[in-house]
Amino acid sequence: MNDGKVADIGQLIILPSSFTGGPRYLHERTQDAMTYVKNYGRPDLFITFTCNPNWTEIQKELFVGQKPQDRHDLLARVFHQKQKALMNLIIKAKIFGEVKCHMYTIEWQKRGLPHAHILIWLKDSLHVHRVDDFISAEIPNPQEDPDLFRIVMKQMVYGPCGSVNPHSPCMKDGICTKRYPRHFLKETQTGQDGYPLYRRRSSQDGGFSANVNFQGSEVSVDNTWIAPYCPLLTKIFNAHINVEYCNSVKSIKYV
Ligand SMILES: [Zn+2]
Repeated sequence: MNDGKVADIGQLIILPSSFTGGPRYLHERTQDAMTYVKNYGRPDLFITFTCNPNWTEIQKELFVGQKPQDRHDLLARVFHQKQKALMNLIIKAKIFGEVKCHMYTIEWQKRGLPHAHILIWLKDSLHVHRVDDFISAEIPNPQEDPDLFRIVMKQMVYGPCGSVNPHSPCMKDGICTKRYPRHFLKETQTGQDGYPLYRRRSSQDGGFSANVNFQGSEVSVDNTWIAPYCPLLTKIFNAHINVEYCNSVKSIKYV
């Protein structure tokens, strides 16, 4: 049994000192996470929610010549509202099912955009056959849902890295450390580490591909480049929201 996964949670919660509230709060939250893991096992959902500087709530408040990054106050205010709305959908509207407990941290890197790391423990785990109902790692059908298609192509395409962008920070010795591009897969499967291998259909199996603009040239992207997302949340929030499910090994007791 693999109990080394606690280290993952530590990594996820340990944040740079630029984190809201400073190192003391950070330390307390890390302890919280460890306590939760002891009591409830591994979280079921790992969500990263990043502020979109193009939200109208931000754009309409900018003064002439201002960039969103010049207005940390505004970014923080709008992001907190959105974060609250997102948590309400998860906890009160139960879009992933009944939530047992949750925690989140909001991280703010210098010159970067605020983003939240959210951990969700569900009352009932999602069966592998139901994962596709909640999480997709595919380009949506552009005819069926042009809005979702547009947002996913803007927010959820990983990189690009590899030969198109060999100096991407994820590249080490010519290989992407984040394992992109992933493999095509006809059906979602349970991976050995508890993380599903998401369905990523090739064009032969009905998957879509589309072009994205990268440094002035068009790059073709297929389902091997899409970061997992929840279509409902992506559409509602028009933002980068990476959703990863983990089929936690609930029987493990951390003593
Ligand atoms: Zn990469």
